[in-house]
Amino acid sequence: MYNVAIIGAGPAGIFSALEIVKLKPDWKVVLIEKGDKIEDRKCLLREGYSKCPTCKKCGLLCGWGGAGAFSDGKLTLTPDVGGHLIDYMSRKKVEDLIDYADKLYLEFGATDEVFGTDQKTFDELERQASLAELKLVHSPVRHLGTERSLDVLKNMQDYLMDKITILNNVSAKNFIVECEQVKGIVLDNGDTIEAEYTIIAPGREGADWLTHEFAKNKIGMVNNAVDIGVRVELPAPVFEPITSKLYESKLIYYSPTFGDAVRTFCMNPNGEVVQENYNGIATVNGHSYANIKTRNTNFALLVSEQFTEPFKEPIAYGQRIASLANMLGGGILVQRFGDLLDGRRSTPDRIKSSIIEPTLKCATPGDLSLVLPYRQLTSIIEMLYALDKIAPGTASRYTLLYGIEVKFYSARVKLTNDLETEGVKNLFTIGDGAGVTRGLIQASASGVHVARVICSR
Ligand SMILES: Cc1cc2nc3c(=O)[nH]c(=O)nc-3n(C[C@H](O)[C@H](O)[C@H](O)COP(=O)(O)OP(=O)(O)OC[C@H]3O[C@@H](n4cnc5c(N)ncnc54)[C@H](O)[C@@H]3O)c2cc1C
Repeated sequence: MYNVAIIGAGPAGIFSALEIVKLKPDWKVVLIEKGDKIEDRKCLLREGYSKCPTCKKCGLLCGWGGAGAFSDGKLTLTPDVGGHLIDYMSRKKVEDLIDYADKLYLEFGATDEVFGTDQKTFDELERQASLAELKLVHSPVRHLGTERSLDVLKNMQDYLMDKITILNNVSAKNFIVECEQVKGIVLDNGDTIEAEYTIIAPGREGADWLTHEFAKNKIGMVNNAVDIGVRVELPAPVFEPITSKLYESKLIYYSPTFGDAVRTFCMNPNGEVVQENYNGIATVNGHSYANIKTRNTNFALLVSEQFTEPFKEPIAYGQRIASLANMLGGGILVQRFGDLLDGRRSTPDRIKSSIIEPTLKCATPGDLSLVLPYRQLTSIIEMLYALDKIAPGTASRYTLLYGIEVKFYSARVKLTNDLETEGVKNLFTIGDGAGVTRGLIQASASGVHVARVICSR
């Protein structure tokens, strides 16, 4: 019998554990993670495989550290980006939680440099963005880089190792609910874990499982917007005037044709594009190292689509579009912007006769217009032209577009302001999987918040 069971060892689960251990050192806590310990995690694609072998458990997303482990480690220190925590508590409270989580990252070895704190520089870039009808969101960033991210998370694992029970390579299958109160979890190896409180933090990787499990238990979900788009890769100097000052620029544009919000997401100066695998579906992402620099910068352009009644399956919608790209390209597709505009596929020769060398080697040259719906594709093209005004060269015919990038955090669990699941007492749902966060720092902050709520009961 445990006091608290935590599902998922991503930033949300880890930060819950860190805070509970601090507030209630004598409590029994179990953390269940379907992937490996951090030192055993590997992504075969990064180890020289030319094609993603679509492992049963994606090494990039599963294991200690979750999707955060091989991430770029950009801590975006504002409530305005990377989640919706502000919908559940005051702005001041979210700011305090972010500040607290940030200090914990520092305690465990994060770098102390923060980009984008100079107001004068921001004001000038904001002015340039406004002239191009772009909204620049103020978002100071602490950049860890992938290698330091791994060190920080390893330090957290070592610290927690003898303070809580950590179960690796085992998945939560069902949770047990009696009289509208959670009693524990059944694991996929048949074991049952009894616990007074359960925190579910399965990330986007586990969002599909969570949706089905909640539907089975008749727990309410609300449709979130689904974010679909492409990853853009261009020569680093094109964005250098912005990235050197802000590191990451969060820009929002309302496409003239459809009025949809298109935003830049996860910008990686001198970084590389990577493939990830969501339950057998290959999608694209990006990251950068602190010490290894490529000649390219990459970022996602995502179009938000909020579905209305009767449609209730935004995750499945995103999966179908990504699967279509996989069907055509055997994985990720890559296309030069010029080829897209000319209405022709990119070929290996066309990709070669280009000024940009793709950093994702396993992508298949193809035609994204056969995959992306007209609505999203039009909005992305319009956004590229808007970005070209503040970073000339963005809409170059050589700019590479990789598809599909999709964020599967689409269904949002109905939660109280404590992030307790509506209708099931003592069951807390946090992080990206719950649809309440979209990035490292807010996922971590959500973990701290529920830990405090539980410890105060
Ligand atoms: C390549 C890449 C780069 C990124 N770069 C950044 C960045 O620079 N800045 C930023 O803010 N964000 C970044 N992100 C996003 C960030 O990693 C996530 O927002 C964050 O990790 C979410 O934390 P989480 O704890 O909610 O979920 P996750 O980190 O996804 O962790 C969830 C964990 O739960 C486990 N799990 C799932 N289901 C089960 C189950 N049934 N039983 C047991 N365990 C289960 C999974 O294996 C996983 O380890 C990046 C993501 C990727 C993939």
